[in-house]
Amino acid sequence: MNAPSSTQVHELHEHDLIDPRVTGGRVRAYCPIHGGDHKRSLSIALEGDAAGWGYCHACEATVRIIELTPANGTVARQRARPAVIGFPALLSDGRLAGVHMRKPITIKQGEPGKEMWWEQHNGRKAADMPLYPLLDLLEAKDAAAQVGVRLTVILCEGELKVDIANRAIRAAGTPHLVAIGTMTGASGTPCDSESAPAAGLRHVALAGP
Ligand SMILES: [Zn+2]
Repeated sequence: MNAPSSTQVHELHEHDLIDPRVTGGRVRAYCPIHGGDHKRSLSIALEGDAAGWGYCHACEATVRIIELTPANGTVARQRARPAVIGFPALLSDGRLAGVHMRKPITIKQGEPGKEMWWEQHNGRKAADMPLYPLLDLLEAKDAAAQVGVRLTVILCEGELKVDIANRAIRAAGTPHLVAIGTMTGASGTPCDSESAPAAGLRHVALAGP
């Protein structure tokens, strides 16, 4: 593939790639331009003149990965580093309560897994973390209340799925629907005061792994 010159190019960093995998000398990832889907539709060359350039077979976006330029292609050839994502835990007043970090890892037999940890949390416990994303939830509640419609909430397992669901909701232009999740991990539950904003809403689904 030659580096394109006329079409719009989306410049991305390697950490923007969603769950990348290296196969056949290419990086394949869920596409962050159109919000990902069930396939790794974004394919990026690791070698040759086109190293760092990629194309999404779903939304037809052309991307250039800033760290995967031919100049540092030797680094890229070894292995694409897993994308670490930080999910901010914001309180209702906008203050940061912590950042939930997620790193994709490979567990036994090549199964994808993840590591999660907290940063910038000042000792705040996971059970005291707000729903994710709390500000979006409060905004959606206000918007629904103003037009007298009941807000429907989709409960998702994990912040990544929440983000993917909310991107899909925005793309579909579906009003009065918002995806939320807890930030405690699947084995924990938030304390009552932090789960209160979701009380009384219509919960339609628990989207599992
Ligand atoms: Zn795409």
